[in-house]
Amino acid sequence: MGLTGIQILGMLPKKNCKECGFPTCLAFAMKVAAGQADIAACPYVSEEAKEKIAEASAPPIRTVKLGSGENVLAIGGETVLFRHEKRFEHPPAIGILVRTNMDEAEIDARIEKFKKYRWERVGVELRPEVIAVEDVDGDAAKFAASVKKIREAAPEAVLVLMSEKKEVLAAGAKECGEYKALLYGVTLDNLKEMAELAKEVGFPVGVKADSLAEASRISEELMKAGIKDIVLDTGPRGVRELYEDQVIMRRAAIKKRYKPFGFPSITFPYRYTDNIVLEYMIASVLVAKYAGMIMLSDFRPDLLFPLMVERMNIFTDPQRPLVVEEGIYPLNGPDENSPVIITCNFALTYFIVSGEVEGSRVPTWMLIKDTEGLSVLTAWAAGKFGADTIADFVKKCGIAEKVKHRKLIIPGYLAGIKGELEEELPDWEIIIGPREASGLPSFLKEWKAA
Ligand code: SF4
Repeated sequence: MGLTGIQILGMLPKKNCKECGFPTCLAFAMKVAAGQADIAACPYVSEEAKEKIAEASAPPIRTVKLGSGENVLAIGGETVLFRHEKRFEHPPAIGILVRTNMDEAEIDARIEKFKKYRWERVGVELRPEVIAVEDVDGDAAKFAASVKKIREAAPEAVLVLMSEKKEVLAAGAKECGEYKALLYGVTLDNLKEMAELAKEVGFPVGVKADSLAEASRISEELMKAGIKDIVLDTGPRGVRELYEDQVIMRRAAIKKRYKPFGFPSITFPYRYTDNIVLEYMIASVLVAKYAGMIMLSDFRPDLLFPLMVERMNIFTDPQRPLVVEEGIYPLNGPDENSPVIITCNFALTYFIVSGEVEGSRVPTWMLIKDTEGLSVLTAWAAGKFGADTIADFVKKCGIAEKVKHRKLIIPGYLAGIKGELEEELPDWEIIIGPREASGLPSFLKEWKAA
């Protein structure tokens, strides 16, 4: 359990000097307890207290970091069982499998898919993060050559190096240099030598077990050997067992603080089916509960995109609405005679409205006003999308320099503010648009600037 604010206060020097950025030691202690301030911000707290607080406030599932520099991939770090309790911290990393017995053309094609399949949604880039390289025949040189090729062609890819042979993983790790890969393949048999390798290169290790009990045992032994960064695979027994293992590990770590399961997991949905659609369905379950990494047999854009969107939706903070940036959005190549519409910055509204406008093919300027993610009527009721705020935004956003006319189309639901808005924007004619976005295409097609 984490420490309370009062317990943390007991470890502070109580100078109330404000150097931590808070008015009192008590205020600072409360923020540290809530995970909203770092204990290191107080320059006077002892190292012993710092360690104690850091240990007590560490998440029950360790955050494991892969990659390096600007391209660090964090997995784990979870603190709750259900998203609505707080939020999930790190989305499961998604990767494509490369095997050393694949021919060069196939490996190239997979690297290409890794680089090609990326989308933007609500201002967020959706893309896979990982390439898993699996050793098939124990040939260290061949394995290293595959790793080298991937590192050169896709340097942003985080790698999972898969082999039960230390010399094979060592050869692959050498090609990664400082770029931390996951050394996957620790079993009861090779545990000692794999732990040595992990300490030597400083990379996290992946447990390859046959059951929950075995995963727990290997994890415990690795911790005893001084390994801190561990990723767990409980073995391919069946989809049901796979799902149950994820839930049991998460519950044990969070509810019971069971340390051997206090690490993110790695999963391989292709082990359970030859049907790629079914494989992605299994992956979609693992996104929700509770994989840290999901390795796929291949990337298919029609399956990968919905998986990415599911991941994005589950791993957004439920306390913060999805928003798009305030500004002017040109749709379908507008010019100085094109219509100007305005709406709020709630991401769903943006996508529905922009989708309808794009579908209409009518060149249009779309003004997005920051309403802190509230939808049109809610924003209006909260005073964030009233005549005064809309007028301020229209004046400062620069749309007047982009069009010759002075006509502004407002959402039909805001018909009541027309008069007020005309007073605030005397140079502009305020036109009431349709109430629903679906009415926009026919509305815009009748648009005339003069
Ligand atoms: S810097 Fe430390 S001693 Fe000073 S107010 Fe903050 S917590 Fe208290």
